[in-house]
Amino acid sequence: MNVYKYHPRRFGAFHSVYPVISRRSGGLSLGVNLSPTGLCNFACVYCQVIAETDAAADNTVAAAVRDESPPFLDQLENELRQLTASYNDGSLFSGTYLESTPPEKRELRDIAFSGDGEPTLFPQFDEAVERIIAVRNELCKPDVKIVLITNASTLHVEPVRNTLAVLRRGNGEIWAKLDAGTAEYFQRVSQSKVPFDKILTNLQTFTQTQPVIIQTCFFNLHGQPPDENEIGAYAEQLNKLHCIEYIQLYTVARNVPEPWVQPLTQPQLDGIAEAVECLTDKEVRRFY
Ligand code: SF4
Repeated sequence: MNVYKYHPRRFGAFHSVYPVISRRSGGLSLGVNLSPTGLCNFACVYCQVIAETDAAADNTVAAAVRDESPPFLDQLENELRQLTASYNDGSLFSGTYLESTPPEKRELRDIAFSGDGEPTLFPQFDEAVERIIAVRNELCKPDVKIVLITNASTLHVEPVRNTLAVLRRGNGEIWAKLDAGTAEYFQRVSQSKVPFDKILTNLQTFTQTQPVIIQTCFFNLHGQPPDENEIGAYAEQLNKLHCIEYIQLYTVARNVPEPWVQPLTQPQLDGIAEAVECLTDKEVRRFY
Protein backbone atom coordinates (compact mmCIF):
# COMPACT_ATOMS: atom_id res chain seq x y z
CA MET A 1 0.00 0.00 0.00
CA ASN A 2 1.43 3.38 -1.05
CA VAL A 3 0.27 5.64 1.78
CA TYR A 4 1.19 8.74 -0.25
CA LYS A 5 -1.26 7.85 -2.98
CA TYR A 6 -4.08 6.35 -0.94
CA HIS A 7 -5.91 9.28 0.64
CA PRO A 8 -9.45 8.28 1.55
CA ARG A 9 -11.38 11.15 3.10
CA ARG A 10 -13.33 8.74 5.27
CA PHE A 11 -11.62 6.78 8.02
CA GLY A 12 -13.36 4.04 9.97
CA ALA A 13 -16.50 5.36 11.64
CA PHE A 14 -15.39 8.98 11.42
CA HIS A 15 -17.39 11.35 9.23
CA SER A 16 -15.45 14.61 9.26
CA VAL A 17 -11.83 13.93 10.18
CA TYR A 18 -9.36 11.60 8.53
CA PRO A 19 -5.62 10.91 8.67
CA VAL A 20 -3.39 11.14 5.62
CA ILE A 21 0.32 10.76 5.09
CA SER A 22 0.89 13.94 3.18
CA ARG A 23 3.77 14.62 0.82
CA ARG A 24 3.28 18.36 1.19
CA SER A 25 3.13 18.23 4.99
CA GLY A 26 6.05 15.82 5.23
CA GLY A 27 4.28 13.42 7.56
CA LEU A 28 0.92 12.81 9.17
CA SER A 29 -1.83 15.34 8.55
CA LEU A 30 -5.25 15.14 10.16
CA GLY A 31 -7.78 16.37 7.63
CA VAL A 32 -10.84 18.27 8.78
CA ASN A 33 -13.72 18.14 6.33
CA LEU A 34 -16.11 21.07 6.73
CA SER A 35 -17.86 20.22 3.47
CA PRO A 36 -19.43 16.79 3.80
CA THR A 37 -21.85 17.83 1.05
CA GLY A 38 -19.03 18.80 -1.32
CA LEU A 39 -19.85 22.52 -1.18
CA CYS A 40 -17.46 24.36 -3.47
CA ASN A 41 -17.62 27.26 -5.93
CA PHE A 42 -14.99 25.64 -8.18
CA ALA A 43 -15.35 22.38 -10.11
CA CYS A 44 -11.68 21.66 -10.83
CA VAL A 45 -11.12 19.08 -13.54
CA TYR A 46 -8.76 17.17 -11.25
CA CYS A 47 -11.02 17.21 -8.19
CA GLN A 48 -12.39 13.95 -6.91
CA VAL A 49 -15.31 15.69 -5.28
CA ILE A 50 -18.54 16.34 -7.11
CA ALA A 51 -18.64 20.12 -6.83
CA GLU A 52 -21.79 22.14 -6.64
CA THR A 53 -21.46 25.14 -8.91
CA ASP A 54 -25.03 26.18 -9.28
CA ALA A 55 -25.83 29.11 -6.98
CA ALA A 56 -29.23 27.78 -6.04
CA ALA A 57 -27.73 24.44 -5.13
CA ASP A 58 -25.05 26.22 -3.11
CA ASN A 59 -27.69 28.04 -1.09
CA THR A 60 -29.61 24.87 -0.45
CA VAL A 61 -26.52 23.03 0.68
CA ALA A 62 -25.34 25.96 2.80
CA ALA A 63 -28.69 26.10 4.54
CA ALA A 64 -28.59 22.38 5.22
CA VAL A 65 -25.12 22.65 6.71
CA ARG A 66 -26.15 25.66 8.77
CA ASP A 67 -29.18 23.84 10.16
CA GLU A 68 -27.07 20.97 11.41
CA SER A 69 -24.10 23.10 12.43
CA PRO A 70 -24.11 22.80 16.24
CA PRO A 71 -24.23 18.97 16.26
CA PHE A 72 -21.95 18.84 13.22
CA LEU A 73 -19.25 20.88 14.95
CA ASP A 74 -19.68 18.95 18.19
CA GLN A 75 -19.25 15.70 16.31
CA LEU A 76 -16.30 17.05 14.36
CA GLU A 77 -14.53 18.17 17.53
CA ASN A 78 -15.26 14.85 19.19
CA GLU A 79 -13.85 12.94 16.21
CA LEU A 80 -10.72 15.08 16.16
CA ARG A 81 -10.21 14.42 19.86
CA GLN A 82 -10.55 10.66 19.29
CA LEU A 83 -8.22 10.64 16.31
CA THR A 84 -5.63 12.74 18.11
CA ALA A 85 -5.84 10.44 21.12
CA SER A 86 -5.28 7.41 18.90
CA TYR A 87 -2.22 9.14 17.42
CA ASN A 88 -0.94 9.95 20.89
CA ASP A 89 -1.30 6.36 22.14
CA GLY A 90 0.03 4.87 18.86
CA SER A 91 -3.10 2.88 17.98
CA LEU A 92 -3.71 4.97 14.84
CA PHE A 93 -1.01 3.01 13.05
CA SER A 94 -2.06 -0.50 14.06
CA GLY A 95 -4.72 -2.49 12.26
CA THR A 96 -5.30 0.23 9.65
CA TYR A 97 -3.94 0.98 6.17
CA LEU A 98 -1.51 3.38 7.89
CA GLU A 99 0.44 0.38 9.21
CA SER A 100 2.80 0.58 6.23
CA THR A 101 3.78 4.19 7.02
CA PRO A 102 7.57 4.50 7.41
CA PRO A 103 8.56 5.51 10.96
CA GLU A 104 10.02 8.85 9.84
CA LYS A 105 6.67 9.84 8.31
CA ARG A 106 4.56 9.12 11.38
CA GLU A 107 5.07 12.48 13.05
CA LEU A 108 1.90 14.59 13.28
CA ARG A 109 2.71 17.73 11.27
CA ASP A 110 -0.59 19.52 10.95
CA ILE A 111 -4.34 19.59 11.22
CA ALA A 112 -5.65 20.71 7.84
CA PHE A 113 -8.95 22.22 6.78
CA SER A 114 -9.28 20.37 3.53
CA GLY A 115 -11.80 17.71 2.60
CA ASP A 116 -14.60 17.71 0.09
CA GLY A 117 -14.99 21.39 -0.78
CA GLU A 118 -13.99 24.96 0.01
CA PRO A 119 -13.70 25.18 3.82
CA THR A 120 -14.27 28.94 4.07
CA LEU A 121 -17.77 28.53 2.65
CA PHE A 122 -18.79 26.69 5.79
CA PRO A 123 -21.13 29.08 7.64
CA GLN A 124 -19.47 28.62 11.05
CA PHE A 125 -15.91 28.62 9.75
CA ASP A 126 -14.84 31.00 12.54
CA GLU A 127 -16.13 28.69 15.26
CA ALA A 128 -14.59 25.65 13.57
CA VAL A 129 -11.17 27.34 13.53
CA GLU A 130 -11.42 28.28 17.21
CA ARG A 131 -12.41 24.77 18.20
CA ILE A 132 -9.64 23.10 16.20
CA ILE A 133 -7.02 25.46 17.64
CA ALA A 134 -8.29 24.66 21.14
CA VAL A 135 -8.02 20.90 20.52
CA ARG A 136 -4.51 21.32 19.09
CA ASN A 137 -3.47 23.38 22.11
CA GLU A 138 -4.85 20.79 24.51
CA LEU A 139 -3.78 17.52 22.86
CA CYS A 140 -0.91 18.17 20.44
CA LYS A 141 2.61 19.49 20.50
CA PRO A 142 2.67 23.26 19.97
CA ASP A 143 4.53 22.96 16.67
CA VAL A 144 1.61 21.11 15.05
CA LYS A 145 0.30 23.59 12.52
CA ILE A 146 -3.26 24.41 11.59
CA VAL A 147 -3.43 24.54 7.79
CA LEU A 148 -6.17 25.98 5.61
CA ILE A 149 -6.27 24.81 2.01
CA THR A 150 -8.36 27.34 0.08
CA ASN A 151 -9.18 28.27 -3.50
CA ALA A 152 -8.80 31.96 -2.51
CA SER A 153 -12.30 32.91 -3.67
CA THR A 154 -13.35 34.26 -0.26
CA LEU A 155 -10.20 36.07 0.84
CA HIS A 156 -11.97 39.42 0.31
CA VAL A 157 -14.73 38.55 2.80
CA GLU A 158 -14.06 40.37 6.03
CA PRO A 159 -15.19 37.67 8.49
CA VAL A 160 -13.05 35.15 6.61
CA ARG A 161 -10.04 37.48 6.73
CA ASN A 162 -10.55 38.00 10.46
CA THR A 163 -10.78 34.25 11.02
CA LEU A 164 -7.60 33.68 9.02
CA ALA A 165 -5.79 36.19 11.21
CA VAL A 166 -6.87 34.10 14.22
CA LEU A 167 -5.71 30.94 12.46
CA ARG A 168 -2.31 32.43 11.70
CA ARG A 169 -1.85 33.61 15.28
CA GLY A 170 -2.58 30.02 16.33
CA ASN A 171 0.47 28.71 14.39
CA GLY A 172 -1.55 28.48 11.20
CA GLU A 173 -0.64 28.50 7.54
CA ILE A 174 -2.76 29.43 4.55
CA TRP A 175 -2.21 27.34 1.43
CA ALA A 176 -3.90 29.22 -1.40
CA LYS A 177 -4.53 27.65 -4.78
CA LEU A 178 -3.34 29.27 -8.02
CA ASP A 179 -3.48 26.87 -10.96
CA ALA A 180 -3.26 29.26 -13.92
CA GLY A 181 -1.75 32.42 -15.32
CA THR A 182 -4.48 33.40 -17.75
CA ALA A 183 -8.25 33.65 -17.43
CA GLU A 184 -8.75 31.16 -20.23
CA TYR A 185 -6.65 28.44 -18.63
CA PHE A 186 -8.15 29.18 -15.22
CA GLN A 187 -11.61 28.64 -16.68
CA ARG A 188 -10.60 25.36 -18.32
CA VAL A 189 -9.15 24.05 -15.06
CA SER A 190 -11.46 25.43 -12.38
CA GLN A 191 -14.74 25.49 -14.36
CA SER A 192 -15.84 28.14 -11.90
CA LYS A 193 -18.19 31.10 -12.13
CA VAL A 194 -15.76 33.07 -9.99
CA PRO A 195 -13.79 35.36 -12.35
CA PHE A 196 -10.03 34.85 -12.48
CA ASP A 197 -9.55 38.58 -11.84
CA LYS A 198 -11.37 38.15 -8.54
CA ILE A 199 -8.97 35.41 -7.43
CA LEU A 200 -5.96 37.50 -8.43
CA THR A 201 -7.24 40.62 -6.68
CA ASN A 202 -7.99 38.58 -3.58
CA LEU A 203 -4.48 37.16 -3.50
CA GLN A 204 -2.82 40.51 -4.20
CA THR A 205 -4.79 42.28 -1.48
CA PHE A 206 -4.58 39.51 1.08
CA THR A 207 -0.83 39.04 0.74
CA GLN A 208 -0.28 42.71 1.59
CA THR A 209 -1.05 41.86 5.20
CA GLN A 210 -0.79 38.08 5.57
CA PRO A 211 1.64 35.58 4.02
CA VAL A 212 0.43 32.61 2.04
CA ILE A 213 1.91 29.47 0.59
CA ILE A 214 0.84 29.17 -3.03
CA GLN A 215 -0.36 25.73 -4.03
CA THR A 216 -0.31 24.95 -7.75
CA CYS A 217 -1.43 21.80 -9.50
CA PHE A 218 -0.31 21.46 -13.11
CA PHE A 219 -0.93 18.40 -15.25
CA ASN A 220 -1.33 17.24 -18.83
CA LEU A 221 -4.66 18.44 -20.15
CA HIS A 222 -5.65 16.48 -23.26
CA GLY A 223 -2.02 15.37 -23.47
CA GLN A 224 -0.50 18.85 -23.16
CA PRO A 225 1.17 20.52 -20.17
CA PRO A 226 0.61 24.27 -19.66
CA ASP A 227 2.58 25.96 -22.45
CA GLU A 228 5.35 28.53 -22.20
CA ASN A 229 2.95 31.48 -22.45
CA GLU A 230 0.83 30.10 -19.63
CA ILE A 231 3.83 29.55 -17.39
CA GLY A 232 5.06 33.06 -18.20
CA ALA A 233 1.67 34.55 -17.32
CA TYR A 234 1.53 32.47 -14.13
CA ALA A 235 4.97 33.76 -13.10
CA GLU A 236 3.82 37.32 -13.81
CA GLN A 237 0.86 36.85 -11.49
CA LEU A 238 3.13 35.45 -8.79
CA ASN A 239 5.34 38.51 -9.10
CA LYS A 240 2.36 40.75 -8.34
CA LEU A 241 1.76 39.05 -4.99
CA HIS A 242 3.32 40.53 -1.90
CA CYS A 243 4.19 37.95 0.73
CA ILE A 244 4.57 34.39 -0.53
CA GLU A 245 6.42 31.98 1.72
CA TYR A 246 7.04 29.51 -1.10
CA ILE A 247 5.23 27.67 -3.88
CA GLN A 248 4.11 24.07 -3.73
CA LEU A 249 4.15 22.70 -7.26
CA TYR A 250 2.57 19.32 -7.69
CA THR A 251 0.70 17.20 -10.17
CA VAL A 252 -2.24 14.86 -9.92
CA ALA A 253 -1.19 11.79 -7.98
CA ARG A 254 -4.38 9.84 -7.69
CA ASN A 255 -7.29 8.87 -9.92
CA VAL A 256 -9.16 11.87 -11.23
CA PRO A 257 -12.64 11.92 -12.74
CA GLU A 258 -11.56 12.99 -16.24
CA PRO A 259 -9.36 10.60 -18.30
CA TRP A 260 -7.91 13.59 -20.23
CA VAL A 261 -6.32 14.85 -17.01
CA GLN A 262 -3.01 13.04 -16.57
CA PRO A 263 -0.01 13.65 -14.28
CA LEU A 264 3.04 15.55 -15.44
CA THR A 265 6.15 13.45 -15.80
CA GLN A 266 8.98 14.27 -13.44
CA PRO A 267 10.98 16.05 -16.17
CA GLN A 268 7.92 18.10 -17.13
CA LEU A 269 7.35 19.18 -13.52
CA ASP A 270 11.06 19.93 -13.07
CA GLY A 271 11.05 22.04 -16.23
CA ILE A 272 8.11 24.13 -15.03
CA ALA A 273 9.61 24.53 -11.55
CA GLU A 274 12.92 25.74 -12.99
CA ALA A 275 11.16 28.20 -15.30
CA VAL A 276 9.07 29.60 -12.45
CA GLU A 277 12.09 29.94 -10.16
CA CYS A 278 13.95 31.74 -12.91
CA LEU A 279 11.06 34.11 -13.66
CA THR A 280 10.08 34.88 -10.06
CA ASP A 281 13.00 34.36 -7.67
CA LYS A 282 10.56 32.41 -5.47
CA GLU A 283 11.26 29.05 -3.91
CA VAL A 284 9.37 26.26 -5.67
CA ARG A 285 9.01 22.98 -3.78
CA ARG A 286 8.27 20.06 -6.04
CA PHE A 287 5.92 17.19 -5.29
CA TYR A 288 5.85 14.43 -7.88
S1 SF4 B 1 -11.33 24.10 -5.14
FE1 SF4 B 1 -10.67 22.17 -4.18
S2 SF4 B 1 -12.59 21.19 -3.47
FE2 SF4 B 1 -13.16 22.83 -4.92
S3 SF4 B 1 -13.35 21.76 -6.88
FE3 SF4 B 1 -11.25 22.57 -6.77
S4 SF4 B 1 -10.02 20.90 -5.90
FE4 SF4 B 1 -12.18 20.41 -5.53
